[in-house]
Amino acid sequence: MNASPASAALDLVRDCLPAERPVALHEPRFKESAWEMVKDCLDSGWVSTVGSYVDKFETMLADYTGARRVIATVNGTTALHAALLLADVQPGDEVICPALTFVATANAISYCHATPHFVDSARDTLGLDPLALDGQLERVAEKRGGVCYNLQTGRPIRAVVAMHTFGHPVDLDTLAEVCSRWNLVLVEDAAESLGSLYKGRHTGRIGRIATLSFNGNKIITTGGGGALMTEDEELGHRAKHLTTTARVGSGWLFDHDMVGYNYRLPNLNAALGCAQMADLPRLVEAKRRIAGRYAEAFRNEAGVSFATETTNSKCNYWLNAILFEDPAERELFLRLSNDERIITRPPWRLMHELPIYSGCPRMALPVAEYLAARLANIPSSPHLGMD
Ligand SMILES: *Cc1c(COP(=O)(O)O)cnc(C)c1O
Repeated sequence: MNASPASAALDLVRDCLPAERPVALHEPRFKESAWEMVKDCLDSGWVSTVGSYVDKFETMLADYTGARRVIATVNGTTALHAALLLADVQPGDEVICPALTFVATANAISYCHATPHFVDSARDTLGLDPLALDGQLERVAEKRGGVCYNLQTGRPIRAVVAMHTFGHPVDLDTLAEVCSRWNLVLVEDAAESLGSLYKGRHTGRIGRIATLSFNGNKIITTGGGGALMTEDEELGHRAKHLTTTARVGSGWLFDHDMVGYNYRLPNLNAALGCAQMADLPRLVEAKRRIAGRYAEAFRNEAGVSFATETTNSKCNYWLNAILFEDPAERELFLRLSNDERIITRPPWRLMHELPIYSGCPRMALPVAEYLAARLANIPSSPHLGMD
């Protein structure tokens, strides 16, 4: 009798992994330099909102990504909130995002008292499908006085948040063209794609503004942390202002010239970030090595395939993913693998299936539904790819 696709896939995954159990989905390992920098931060007493590590971390991120300005924040969700405010999202607006994403993407839209509008994903990039978006706008939207309106709800559609799923860049050129034609601000949620390139350019540099996350499970972590990226110096300046309680002045007397947010990354967290930034190229290489191993293992497997990068992109393979033809086999695979403490996970629940977002405007979502029922994330910690 032939093995089921689920147990065959588990055999292939197991062969790519070391013998110890459990094998985490994604866990960080810290080098000596991390201890040293955090200790230096403690010794100096500058652990909080003032200190040199935040500036240094921002500069390292800008150098690595090529972004003109980077502003570090307390986490990726707050970075998204600030990004949408900076994209001029107003209460009562709609903002487009994929249904297949982490809940933070949709939540940040809600924080602005705007409504998420869910669009479908693409099979190859796993991210927002620009052609599906264009089709949905053709069906429901109209441009009036330079503003895109949803004719079914009467609300302005202000922006699009694209998310680079598991590190795979969306089709950014086509998306940017669609956004500019409909007068929509493009925001990139690059929380998962630090180290991923689209046509040789770091993700997060095509949109007007982009966000990163340094949560514990991301490719580098500051414990908790995030960042805003932009090519626009003036917008970068406003981003800093908005995320540092809109403070103006110097010396000992400060004013606050608008209602700002206390979203600045603490120096202690930034110290951890600096230590890992030095290691990032090695981490990306290690992750691509693991992905190469999985890709080779699944090359000729029936009923299940490995999600590889598209021709336009270089993926950081933050979380490796396999796709089953049969959803029942995906369920079986999740159960069998977790039973033997090889940690695997399905993707997020689709946003429109969450009761909090079930009433939001959306198009038909056949690809997002297909993917959500068939994808499984498999162990992806960088140390698995280090010799
Ligand atoms: C991790 C992540 C975020 C941000 O998460 P934080 O925990 O707030 O840093 C946002 N969007 C996506 C898609 C993510 O994966």
